[in-house]
Amino acid sequence: MTALDLGVPAVPGAATSTTDTQGRPSDPRLVDSWGRVATDLRVSLTDRCNLRCTYCMPAEGLEWMPSEQALTDDEVVRLVRVAVERLGVQEIRFTGGEPLLRKGLEDIVAATAALSPRPEMSVTTNGLGLTRRAAGLAAAGLDRVNVSLDTLRRERFAEITRRDRLDDVLGGLRAAREHGLDPIKVNTVLMPGLNDDEAPDLLAWALEEGYELRIIEQMPLDAGHSWQRDRMITAEQVLASLRTRFTLTDDPAERGGAPAERFLVDGWTAPDGTPAKVGVIASVTRPFCGTCDRTRLTADGQVRTCLFSQTENDLRGLLRGGGSDEEIADAWRVAMWGKKPGHGIDDPGFLQPDRPMSAIGG
Ligand code: SAM
Repeated sequence: MTALDLGVPAVPGAATSTTDTQGRPSDPRLVDSWGRVATDLRVSLTDRCNLRCTYCMPAEGLEWMPSEQALTDDEVVRLVRVAVERLGVQEIRFTGGEPLLRKGLEDIVAATAALSPRPEMSVTTNGLGLTRRAAGLAAAGLDRVNVSLDTLRRERFAEITRRDRLDDVLGGLRAAREHGLDPIKVNTVLMPGLNDDEAPDLLAWALEEGYELRIIEQMPLDAGHSWQRDRMITAEQVLASLRTRFTLTDDPAERGGAPAERFLVDGWTAPDGTPAKVGVIASVTRPFCGTCDRTRLTADGQVRTCLFSQTENDLRGLLRGGGSDEEIADAWRVAMWGKKPGHGIDDPGFLQPDRPMSAIGG
Protein backbone atom coordinates (compact mmCIF):
# COMPACT_ATOMS: atom_id res chain seq x y z
CA MET A 1 0.00 0.00 0.00
CA THR A 2 1.26 3.50 -0.75
CA ALA A 3 0.53 6.87 0.79
CA LEU A 4 -1.51 7.59 -2.32
CA ASP A 5 -3.72 4.54 -1.73
CA LEU A 6 -4.36 5.84 1.76
CA GLY A 7 -5.23 9.29 0.56
CA VAL A 8 -2.63 10.87 2.82
CA PRO A 9 -0.74 13.87 1.51
CA ALA A 10 3.01 13.99 0.86
CA VAL A 11 4.88 15.59 3.77
CA PRO A 12 4.29 19.30 3.24
CA GLY A 13 7.53 21.22 3.09
CA ALA A 14 9.71 18.12 3.42
CA ALA A 15 13.15 18.27 1.87
CA THR A 16 13.85 15.55 -0.69
CA SER A 17 17.30 14.60 0.55
CA THR A 18 17.44 11.73 3.00
CA THR A 19 19.28 11.40 6.30
CA ASP A 20 19.34 7.67 6.85
CA THR A 21 19.11 4.33 5.14
CA GLN A 22 15.39 4.10 5.86
CA GLY A 23 14.75 7.00 3.49
CA ARG A 24 13.62 9.47 6.09
CA PRO A 25 13.68 13.02 4.67
CA SER A 26 15.96 15.54 6.34
CA ASP A 27 13.05 17.19 8.07
CA PRO A 28 13.33 18.08 11.76
CA ARG A 29 9.66 17.37 12.39
CA LEU A 30 7.98 14.11 13.37
CA VAL A 31 7.20 12.90 9.86
CA ASP A 32 6.19 9.34 9.11
CA SER A 33 6.67 7.27 6.00
CA TRP A 34 2.99 7.70 5.03
CA GLY A 35 3.25 11.47 4.74
CA ARG A 36 1.81 12.51 8.08
CA VAL A 37 3.39 15.00 10.48
CA ALA A 38 2.78 14.67 14.22
CA THR A 39 2.26 18.03 15.88
CA ASP A 40 -0.02 16.94 18.74
CA LEU A 41 1.64 15.29 21.75
CA ARG A 42 -0.32 13.32 24.36
CA VAL A 43 1.68 13.01 27.57
CA SER A 44 0.56 10.49 30.16
CA LEU A 45 1.57 11.68 33.63
CA THR A 46 0.60 8.59 35.61
CA ASP A 47 -1.02 5.19 35.11
CA ARG A 48 -2.99 5.57 38.36
CA CYS A 49 -6.59 6.63 38.58
CA ASN A 50 -9.03 7.43 41.39
CA LEU A 51 -12.02 6.00 39.53
CA ARG A 52 -12.46 2.39 38.51
CA CYS A 53 -14.59 2.65 35.38
CA THR A 54 -15.79 -0.87 34.66
CA TYR A 55 -14.83 -0.65 30.97
CA CYS A 56 -11.32 0.53 31.78
CA MET A 57 -9.96 -1.00 35.00
CA PRO A 58 -10.79 -3.79 37.43
CA ALA A 59 -12.23 -2.89 40.86
CA GLU A 60 -8.94 -3.61 42.61
CA GLY A 61 -6.96 -1.40 40.21
CA LEU A 62 -3.91 -2.57 38.28
CA GLU A 63 -0.31 -3.22 39.12
CA TRP A 64 0.90 0.39 39.15
CA MET A 65 4.15 1.51 37.60
CA PRO A 66 6.91 1.71 40.27
CA SER A 67 7.56 5.39 40.99
CA GLU A 68 11.24 5.23 40.01
CA GLN A 69 10.19 4.14 36.53
CA ALA A 70 7.93 7.14 36.04
CA LEU A 71 9.46 10.30 34.62
CA THR A 72 10.05 13.06 37.16
CA ASP A 73 8.48 16.48 36.56
CA ASP A 74 11.82 17.78 35.25
CA GLU A 75 12.15 14.82 32.89
CA VAL A 76 8.63 15.37 31.56
CA VAL A 77 9.38 19.03 30.97
CA ARG A 78 12.61 18.22 29.20
CA LEU A 79 10.92 15.83 26.77
CA VAL A 80 8.12 18.31 26.17
CA ARG A 81 10.71 21.01 25.48
CA VAL A 82 12.51 18.77 22.98
CA ALA A 83 9.16 18.06 21.30
CA VAL A 84 8.27 21.73 21.02
CA GLU A 85 11.64 23.27 20.26
CA ARG A 86 13.14 20.59 18.01
CA LEU A 87 10.29 18.51 16.65
CA GLY A 88 7.63 21.09 15.83
CA VAL A 89 5.01 19.90 18.32
CA GLN A 90 2.34 22.60 18.65
CA GLU A 91 -0.22 21.08 20.99
CA ILE A 92 0.23 19.22 24.27
CA ARG A 93 -2.45 17.22 26.06
CA PHE A 94 -1.68 15.97 29.57
CA THR A 95 -3.52 12.78 30.40
CA GLY A 96 -3.23 9.52 32.30
CA GLY A 97 -4.35 7.52 34.31
CA GLU A 98 -5.68 10.57 36.09
CA PRO A 99 -3.37 13.55 35.49
CA LEU A 100 -4.77 15.51 38.46
CA LEU A 101 -3.18 12.87 40.70
CA ARG A 102 0.15 14.37 39.66
CA LYS A 103 1.09 16.91 42.34
CA GLY A 104 3.48 18.74 40.03
CA LEU A 105 0.93 19.24 37.25
CA GLU A 106 0.75 23.03 37.74
CA ASP A 107 4.57 23.26 37.57
CA ILE A 108 4.68 21.12 34.42
CA VAL A 109 1.98 23.29 32.82
CA ALA A 110 3.79 26.52 33.80
CA ALA A 111 7.11 25.26 32.39
CA THR A 112 5.36 24.19 29.17
CA ALA A 113 3.64 27.58 28.89
CA ALA A 114 7.07 29.25 29.04
CA LEU A 115 8.30 27.41 25.92
CA SER A 116 8.73 29.16 22.63
CA PRO A 117 6.73 28.81 20.49
CA ARG A 118 4.17 28.38 23.25
CA PRO A 119 2.13 25.22 22.60
CA GLU A 120 -1.63 24.96 23.12
CA MET A 121 -2.21 23.02 26.32
CA SER A 122 -5.09 20.91 27.56
CA VAL A 123 -5.74 18.26 30.19
CA THR A 124 -7.98 15.19 29.90
CA THR A 125 -9.33 14.44 33.37
CA ASN A 126 -12.15 12.73 35.19
CA GLY A 127 -12.69 16.08 36.93
CA LEU A 128 -12.13 14.87 40.50
CA GLY A 129 -10.14 17.57 42.26
CA LEU A 130 -10.70 20.12 39.53
CA THR A 131 -12.72 22.27 41.93
CA ARG A 132 -9.51 22.86 43.91
CA ARG A 133 -7.06 22.86 41.01
CA ALA A 134 -8.80 24.77 38.19
CA ALA A 135 -7.64 28.22 39.41
CA GLY A 136 -4.00 27.13 39.74
CA LEU A 137 -4.01 25.33 36.40
CA ALA A 138 -5.51 28.32 34.61
CA ALA A 139 -2.98 30.62 36.30
CA ALA A 140 -0.16 28.28 35.22
CA GLY A 141 -1.27 28.67 31.59
CA LEU A 142 -3.59 25.76 30.87
CA ASP A 143 -5.84 26.66 27.94
CA ARG A 144 -8.59 24.08 28.01
CA VAL A 145 -9.86 20.91 29.57
CA ASN A 146 -11.61 17.71 28.51
CA VAL A 147 -13.64 16.13 31.28
CA SER A 148 -14.79 12.53 31.01
CA LEU A 149 -18.36 11.91 32.10
CA ASP A 150 -20.50 8.97 30.97
CA THR A 151 -23.75 9.70 32.78
CA LEU A 152 -25.65 12.42 34.64
CA ARG A 153 -27.43 9.95 36.89
CA ARG A 154 -25.89 9.48 40.28
CA GLU A 155 -26.57 5.78 40.65
CA ARG A 156 -25.35 5.03 37.18
CA PHE A 157 -22.24 7.07 37.76
CA ALA A 158 -21.48 5.01 40.85
CA GLU A 159 -22.17 1.80 38.93
CA ILE A 160 -19.92 2.73 35.98
CA THR A 161 -17.04 4.28 37.95
CA ARG A 162 -17.43 2.25 41.17
CA ARG A 163 -17.28 5.58 43.07
CA ASP A 164 -20.13 7.88 44.18
CA ARG A 165 -18.50 11.08 42.92
CA LEU A 166 -20.81 12.60 40.31
CA ASP A 167 -21.21 15.86 42.26
CA ASP A 168 -17.42 16.31 42.38
CA VAL A 169 -17.18 15.97 38.60
CA LEU A 170 -20.00 18.47 38.04
CA GLY A 171 -18.35 20.86 40.52
CA GLY A 172 -15.02 20.45 38.73
CA LEU A 173 -16.65 21.34 35.42
CA ARG A 174 -18.16 24.51 36.92
CA ALA A 175 -14.79 25.47 38.41
CA ALA A 176 -13.12 25.03 35.01
CA ARG A 177 -15.70 27.37 33.48
CA GLU A 178 -15.37 29.95 36.29
CA HIS A 179 -11.62 30.08 35.78
CA GLY A 180 -11.87 30.65 32.04
CA LEU A 181 -10.71 27.29 30.69
CA ASP A 182 -12.25 27.32 27.24
CA PRO A 183 -13.61 25.38 25.46
CA ILE A 184 -14.69 22.76 27.97
CA LYS A 185 -15.28 19.43 26.27
CA VAL A 186 -17.09 16.53 27.88
CA ASN A 187 -16.05 13.06 26.70
CA THR A 188 -18.56 10.23 26.94
CA VAL A 189 -18.35 6.53 26.17
CA LEU A 190 -21.71 4.82 25.69
CA MET A 191 -22.17 1.18 26.55
CA PRO A 192 -25.13 -1.07 25.80
CA GLY A 193 -27.48 -1.54 28.72
CA LEU A 194 -25.48 0.87 30.89
CA ASN A 195 -25.92 4.39 29.49
CA ASP A 196 -26.72 4.04 25.79
CA ASP A 197 -30.12 5.70 26.32
CA GLU A 198 -28.54 8.88 27.68
CA ALA A 199 -27.02 10.59 24.64
CA PRO A 200 -29.87 13.12 24.13
CA ASP A 201 -29.98 13.99 27.86
CA LEU A 202 -26.21 14.47 27.93
CA LEU A 203 -26.37 16.72 24.87
CA ALA A 204 -29.27 18.79 26.30
CA TRP A 205 -27.33 19.28 29.53
CA ALA A 206 -24.04 20.13 27.74
CA LEU A 207 -25.80 22.70 25.55
CA GLU A 208 -27.41 24.35 28.61
CA GLU A 209 -24.09 24.47 30.44
CA GLY A 210 -22.03 25.63 27.45
CA TYR A 211 -19.85 22.49 27.24
CA GLU A 212 -19.07 20.64 24.01
CA LEU A 213 -20.13 16.99 24.18
CA ARG A 214 -18.09 14.38 22.34
CA ILE A 215 -19.20 10.78 22.26
CA ILE A 216 -16.39 8.27 21.77
CA GLU A 217 -16.74 4.76 20.40
CA GLN A 218 -15.47 2.18 22.84
CA MET A 219 -12.13 0.77 21.68
CA PRO A 220 -10.34 -2.52 22.40
CA LEU A 221 -8.15 -1.01 25.12
CA ASP A 222 -9.71 -2.34 28.33
CA ALA A 223 -7.49 -3.99 30.91
CA GLY A 224 -9.70 -7.10 30.90
CA HIS A 225 -9.47 -7.57 27.09
CA SER A 226 -13.19 -8.17 27.01
CA TRP A 227 -14.11 -5.62 24.29
CA GLN A 228 -16.37 -7.05 21.60
CA ARG A 229 -17.10 -5.20 18.41
CA ASP A 230 -20.72 -6.34 18.30
CA ARG A 231 -21.22 -5.02 21.85
CA MET A 232 -20.08 -1.45 21.17
CA ILE A 233 -22.32 1.51 20.42
CA THR A 234 -21.38 2.81 16.98
CA ALA A 235 -21.23 6.42 15.81
CA GLU A 236 -24.22 5.70 13.61
CA GLN A 237 -26.26 4.57 16.61
CA VAL A 238 -25.13 7.61 18.60
CA LEU A 239 -26.21 9.98 15.83
CA ALA A 240 -29.54 8.21 15.40
CA SER A 241 -30.17 8.55 19.12
CA LEU A 242 -29.21 12.27 19.19
CA ARG A 243 -31.42 12.96 16.17
CA THR A 244 -34.49 11.75 18.06
CA ARG A 245 -34.32 15.10 19.88
CA PHE A 246 -31.96 17.40 17.94
CA THR A 247 -31.42 18.49 14.35
CA LEU A 248 -27.77 18.01 13.45
CA THR A 249 -25.97 19.20 10.34
CA ASP A 250 -22.38 18.52 9.26
CA ASP A 251 -19.95 21.15 10.55
CA PRO A 252 -18.59 22.86 7.42
CA ALA A 253 -15.31 23.73 9.21
CA GLU A 254 -12.16 21.92 8.07
CA ARG A 255 -11.64 18.83 10.29
CA GLY A 256 -7.86 18.57 9.85
CA GLY A 257 -6.36 15.95 12.16
CA ALA A 258 -9.17 16.20 14.72
CA PRO A 259 -10.52 12.85 15.88
CA ALA A 260 -14.06 14.19 16.29
CA GLU A 261 -16.54 14.49 13.44
CA ARG A 262 -18.48 17.56 14.48
CA PHE A 263 -22.09 18.49 13.90
CA LEU A 264 -23.87 21.81 14.38
CA VAL A 265 -26.85 21.57 16.74
CA ASP A 266 -29.70 23.51 15.20
CA GLY A 267 -31.02 26.33 17.38
CA TRP A 268 -28.17 26.33 19.90
CA THR A 269 -25.27 28.71 20.41
CA ALA A 270 -21.94 28.08 22.16
CA PRO A 271 -20.71 30.49 24.87
CA ASP A 272 -18.50 32.26 22.28
CA GLY A 273 -21.54 33.04 20.10
CA THR A 274 -20.75 30.47 17.39
CA PRO A 275 -23.21 27.63 16.59
CA ALA A 276 -23.10 24.93 19.27
CA LYS A 277 -21.51 21.65 18.22
CA VAL A 278 -21.47 18.01 19.21
CA GLY A 279 -18.69 15.61 18.25
CA VAL A 280 -18.58 11.90 17.56
CA ILE A 281 -15.25 10.09 17.71
CA ALA A 282 -15.69 6.99 15.58
CA SER A 283 -12.27 5.44 16.07
CA VAL A 284 -13.59 1.96 15.29
CA THR A 285 -16.23 2.33 12.60
CA ARG A 286 -14.88 5.41 10.76
CA PRO A 287 -11.16 5.47 11.55
CA PHE A 288 -9.26 8.68 10.85
CA CYS A 289 -5.71 7.31 10.83
CA GLY A 290 -4.96 8.91 7.44
CA THR A 291 -4.98 12.37 9.05
CA CYS A 292 -3.54 11.36 12.45
CA ASP A 293 -1.19 14.03 13.77
CA ARG A 294 -0.55 12.51 17.21
CA THR A 295 2.46 11.17 19.02
CA ARG A 296 2.28 9.76 22.55
CA LEU A 297 4.55 9.60 25.55
CA THR A 298 3.82 7.19 28.39
CA ALA A 299 4.46 8.08 32.05
CA ASP A 300 7.65 5.98 31.92
CA GLY A 301 9.01 7.79 28.90
CA GLN A 302 8.14 5.48 26.01
CA VAL A 303 7.10 6.90 22.65
CA ARG A 304 3.99 5.31 21.18
CA THR A 305 3.11 6.22 17.64
CA CYS A 306 -0.49 5.02 18.03
CA LEU A 307 -2.87 3.99 20.84
CA PHE A 308 -2.74 0.50 19.35
CA SER A 309 1.04 0.19 18.81
CA GLN A 310 2.61 -3.14 19.67
CA THR A 311 6.02 -1.51 19.99
CA GLU A 312 7.41 1.42 21.95
CA ASN A 313 10.64 3.42 21.74
CA ASP A 314 12.42 4.21 24.96
CA LEU A 315 13.35 7.83 25.59
CA ARG A 316 13.76 7.50 29.35
CA GLY A 317 16.88 5.32 28.99
CA LEU A 318 18.42 7.86 26.65
CA LEU A 319 17.50 10.72 28.91
CA ARG A 320 18.81 9.07 32.10
CA GLY A 321 21.88 7.79 30.25
CA GLY A 322 23.01 11.33 29.49
CA GLY A 323 21.64 11.64 25.92
CA SER A 324 21.66 15.12 24.45
CA ASP A 325 18.47 16.92 23.39
CA GLU A 326 19.33 16.25 19.75
CA GLU A 327 19.89 12.53 20.41
CA ILE A 328 16.51 12.36 22.11
CA ALA A 329 14.90 14.26 19.25
CA ASP A 330 16.47 11.87 16.74
CA ALA A 331 15.24 8.78 18.58
CA TRP A 332 11.74 10.29 18.60
CA ARG A 333 11.97 11.04 14.84
CA VAL A 334 13.04 7.47 14.11
CA ALA A 335 10.15 6.12 16.20
CA MET A 336 7.60 8.22 14.33
CA TRP A 337 9.04 7.36 10.91
CA GLY A 338 7.97 3.78 11.64
CA LYS A 339 4.35 4.71 12.47
CA LYS A 340 1.91 2.26 10.85
CA PRO A 341 -0.61 3.59 8.33
CA GLY A 342 -3.59 2.57 10.44
CA HIS A 343 -4.56 1.18 13.84
CA GLY A 344 -5.37 -2.20 12.35
CA ILE A 345 -8.46 -2.98 14.46
CA ASP A 346 -10.03 -4.52 11.36
CA ASP A 347 -7.02 -6.65 10.46
CA PRO A 348 -7.61 -10.38 10.95
CA GLY A 349 -4.43 -10.59 13.05
CA PHE A 350 -5.25 -7.59 15.25
CA LEU A 351 -3.86 -7.87 18.77
CA GLN A 352 -4.88 -5.57 21.58
CA PRO A 353 -1.82 -3.79 23.03
CA ASP A 354 -0.52 -5.02 26.40
CA ARG A 355 -0.89 -1.60 27.95
CA PRO A 356 -4.51 -0.72 28.66
CA MET A 357 -5.87 2.77 27.91
CA SER A 358 -5.16 3.91 31.49
CA ALA A 359 -1.44 3.18 31.09
CA ILE A 360 -1.14 4.67 27.59
CA GLY A 361 -3.04 7.89 28.10
CA GLY A 362 -6.35 8.46 26.36
N1 SAM B 1 -8.55 9.88 33.84
C1 SAM B 1 -8.69 10.77 32.72
C2 SAM B 1 -10.12 10.84 32.26
O1 SAM B 1 -10.98 10.21 32.86
O2 SAM B 1 -10.36 11.55 31.30
C3 SAM B 1 -7.77 10.48 31.55
C4 SAM B 1 -7.54 9.07 31.14
S1 SAM B 1 -8.95 8.21 30.56
C5 SAM B 1 -8.22 6.69 30.11
C6 SAM B 1 -9.25 9.05 29.04
C7 SAM B 1 -10.52 8.73 28.34
O3 SAM B 1 -10.44 7.42 27.84
C8 SAM B 1 -11.79 8.78 29.18
O4 SAM B 1 -12.69 9.64 28.54
C9 SAM B 1 -12.30 7.37 29.16
O5 SAM B 1 -13.70 7.32 29.17
C10 SAM B 1 -11.74 6.90 27.86
N2 SAM B 1 -11.64 5.45 27.71
C11 SAM B 1 -11.18 4.54 28.58
N3 SAM B 1 -11.23 3.30 28.05
C12 SAM B 1 -11.74 3.44 26.81
C13 SAM B 1 -12.02 2.55 25.74
N4 SAM B 1 -11.81 1.24 25.86
N5 SAM B 1 -12.51 3.05 24.61
C14 SAM B 1 -12.74 4.37 24.47
N6 SAM B 1 -12.49 5.27 25.42
C15 SAM B 1 -12.00 4.81 26.58
